[in-house]
Amino acid sequence: MRISVILGHPDPGSFNHAIAEAAVDALEKNGHLVSYHDLYREGFDPILPGPEIPRGGAVDLAVQSHCDEIAGAEGIVIVHPNWWGQPPAILKGWVDRVMRPGVAYEFLEGDGGEGVPVGLLKARSALIFNTSNTPERREREAFGDPLEDLWKRCVFGLCGVSDVRRRTFSVVVTSTPEERRSWLVEVGDIVGSLYPPDVEGGAFGRPAPGQDPRSRGSEDIASVRIRVVLGDITEMEVDAIVNAANPTLLGGGGVDGAIHKAAGPRLLEECRTLGGCPPGEARITGGYDLPAKMVIHTVGPVWHGGRQGEDEILAKAYRSCISLADERGAKTIAFPAISTGAYGFPVERAARIAVGEIRDFMEKNGAIEKVMLVCFSERAKGCYLKALDQRR
Ligand code: ADP
Repeated sequence: MRISVILGHPDPGSFNHAIAEAAVDALEKNGHLVSYHDLYREGFDPILPGPEIPRGGAVDLAVQSHCDEIAGAEGIVIVHPNWWGQPPAILKGWVDRVMRPGVAYEFLEGDGGEGVPVGLLKARSALIFNTSNTPERREREAFGDPLEDLWKRCVFGLCGVSDVRRRTFSVVVTSTPEERRSWLVEVGDIVGSLYPPDVEGGAFGRPAPGQDPRSRGSEDIASVRIRVVLGDITEMEVDAIVNAANPTLLGGGGVDGAIHKAAGPRLLEECRTLGGCPPGEARITGGYDLPAKMVIHTVGPVWHGGRQGEDEILAKAYRSCISLADERGAKTIAFPAISTGAYGFPVERAARIAVGEIRDFMEKNGAIEKVMLVCFSERAKGCYLKALDQRR
């Protein structure tokens, strides 16, 4: 399943962060595709400008990518502290801007906004984790626990999500380390029971524990300089690794999150200076704490069924990356399977495009010595090997 995790807390050392990370771990362990957004870290702008309000209004790139993601999410996890019976303003702003008409709800034809809207979100369930410094009973009796209504009825109820569960951990300030540890275990249990492993057995999950991803099943493809490797791209010792980023270039889930985590905060600092990147194009930064010297950030297409130019945007993304790498003198490059995670591009089709574009480039240009196609699942690896065979 595709699951979005949205966190609103400014302090990276907060218990809210620990909750969000425990949720992400449990989801990934169960093989789900997780899109993790730490709204403060991304610098999400919560202010809804007037022209954005109407259906079809002008929506900026960063917000549009949140909208695409939340519309396609099959599960949603929200984590935030209880501030004045409300979420922090950044998260309220995320609701204002992302839960848009046409994305999260719409009014029936002929209804000018006075009737009851219809929910549009694909997710059937959502999970809210809150922290609070008010004991549970006092929260209910003195304040009426406004967050309960806010998330269950006002937001998710209206947007068509029927199964909304909520757990508040309190009182955080006086809690002991053991208590907090047991709360994190509980987070894992709650997440795991609402989002158990997919029937397919977690094809998109991490490599199995105890297995070295670098040594497993790596394939030498004779006569060409393209290799299919099963593993983690952040560990590749190459000149440049490619990041499947989103248009903000300010970090996200999946491979993007893994690359930022491994490269350290200086990568984000450099990304902030780039001013984003439209789909199909590429931008380059240093590799910082990664073994790779450079990171080439590209933005693949969001899959909408294949009739909105997705193939061409993906092909362009591969071409942009490999020619930028070549221009900067990279001899060895590693690519992830761009767009096949949270962006939903079918992996078999994406693998054919990736192999086609890389091979075309390498046939015409001799400088690049080796391209690694780094797969994060056996299934993706099978698709790449098939694509390489077909084109030989
Ligand atoms: P996108 O949104 O562009 O699809 P994702 O990061 O969600 O980007 O997924 C792209 C691909 O990268 C997916 O096939 C996913 O399984 C894979 N992936 C995720 N983490 C890693 C990693 N650390 N190394 C290599 N591939 C990864």
